[in-house]
Amino acid sequence: MISLKSVHKYFGTYHALRNINLDVEEGQKIVVCGPSGSGKSTMIRCVNGLEQHDEGDITVNGHMMTTDEKTGNLIRQEVGMVFQSFNLFPHMKVIENLMMAQRMVRKKTKAEARDTGMKLLERVGISAQADKFPGQLSGGQQQRVAIARALCMNPKVMLFDEPTSALDPEMISEVLEVMTELAREGMTMICVTHEMGFARSVADRIVFMDEGEIVEAGEPETFFANPEHNRTRKFLDQII
Ligand code: ADP
Ligand code: MG
Repeated sequence: MISLKSVHKYFGTYHALRNINLDVEEGQKIVVCGPSGSGKSTMIRCVNGLEQHDEGDITVNGHMMTTDEKTGNLIRQEVGMVFQSFNLFPHMKVIENLMMAQRMVRKKTKAEARDTGMKLLERVGISAQADKFPGQLSGGQQQRVAIARALCMNPKVMLFDEPTSALDPEMISEVLEVMTELAREGMTMICVTHEMGFARSVADRIVFMDEGEIVEAGEPETFFANPEHNRTRKFLDQII
């Protein structure tokens, strides 16, 4: 479903991604962790074309990521992304946030878009908030709206970039629950997160990045019990 082969990315002379290789099969869930500045966001932003990589190949559901706009748009339609900072449109009601891309990109009618939107709000447990504005919702509710909005496009893959890092502690679990449910339903997911409880219970593989490289990757059990590299051990000691 997702494949990165020998991917490099530079910001000017700064080498932000160094020879990234990662294969994600359909239905697999990958958790990416690592220190701040290690390239986690850059890597997943390259997967949906928010950043362009400089060398190597990225393919998503059989489409090779190229610089031409058509391919980028095609891939972005198949990849849902959820950010740390929700990124909802503040001047639109919750339901309108969910309808917009369906109308613009999928050319759905208002009624169809509203119907899909309401179903997804129900799925993330906040259909009662449909006619409120994002600013009237708690952080946890806003992040669930952001997840529902991404799901409205019926994505093949979901990317999460530290979706709970901006939340008050008491709201983290409601978002992780929605993500866990999505994982159980078989969604292919790459999640950048330091929620190691979530990683342990949901991830097929945990990837540890440092200084633009994938230092090691493994199944949760071996990753936590027996990390191969010193850098991984040091990182885990700090966050667990
Ligand atoms: P992480 O998500 O692991 O914290 P990032 O992928 O955001 O790390 O960043 C990796 C490195 O690339 C950092 O050193 C960051 O400063 C740099 N970087 C990220 N985005 C840009 C950009 N648009 N321009 C220049 N440098 C950037
Ligand atoms: Mg980041």
